Amino acid sequence: MYGLGILKGLRVTFKHFIDTYIDDFKWGVRRYTTVEGFEARQSPSTTGLVTIQYPEEKMAVPERFRFVPFLVVNDDDHPEAPGHIWCTSCGICAKVCPPQCIWIVRGKDPETGRPVPEPQAFYIDIDICMNCGYCAEFCPFDAIKMDHDYELSSYDRTGHHVYDKEKLSKPLSYWQTIAPTRAEQERLAREAKEAAKSAKKGKRGRG
Ligand code: SF4
Ligand code: SF4
Repeated sequence: MYGLGILKGLRVTFKHFIDTYIDDFKWGVRRYTTVEGFEARQSPSTTGLVTIQYPEEKMAVPERFRFVPFLVVNDDDHPEAPGHIWCTSCGICAKVCPPQCIWIVRGKDPETGRPVPEPQAFYIDIDICMNCGYCAEFCPFDAIKMDHDYELSSYDRTGHHVYDKEKLSKPLSYWQTIAPTRAEQERLAREAKEAAKSAKKGKRGRG
């Protein structure tokens, strides 16, 4: 029958409309004022309205969500090198970046002038970045990761949207908070690599 699809669609909308009132009745004000209420509204099993009151409420993003890269640095309480940046300035991320929005200046030893494995400057134009995640995938040192921070609007494009090394740097603990599973997998992989390296060295030493 002509218009049946429209009626079916309206039925779904109406069902959600009614379910929202049922949920409101069950939860009371807690549905809009507590963390549990927010989680219930965002859960796949919710039946009523899923709308959130942005910016007061923010949608939880999945662990694999990616929005603009950041550079990993050691936490301030690191026993040997607090704040040390993991990037070795190898330049691989800049090479693989499809829109070429990464710019790195390799660090130099002030006395010898020889290159050091650390960037002197590191810039990403986040307006050009398309959040593909290639830089993070290809970095051999786990030094660049995709962030979850999607609130980047500003009135000044030139001043605020070219991120420098300082703005890009975030501690490892931050990465562990936003992507605990990936961070743990990477930690285990790094440890396995280190163990294999030491075993190889030991073998050479004996040989
Ligand atoms: S690939 Fe990793 S280590 Fe190499 S320059 Fe990029 S962030 Fe630094
Ligand atoms: S996420 Fe993609 S576009 Fe953005 S800096 Fe990394 S490689 Fe470039």
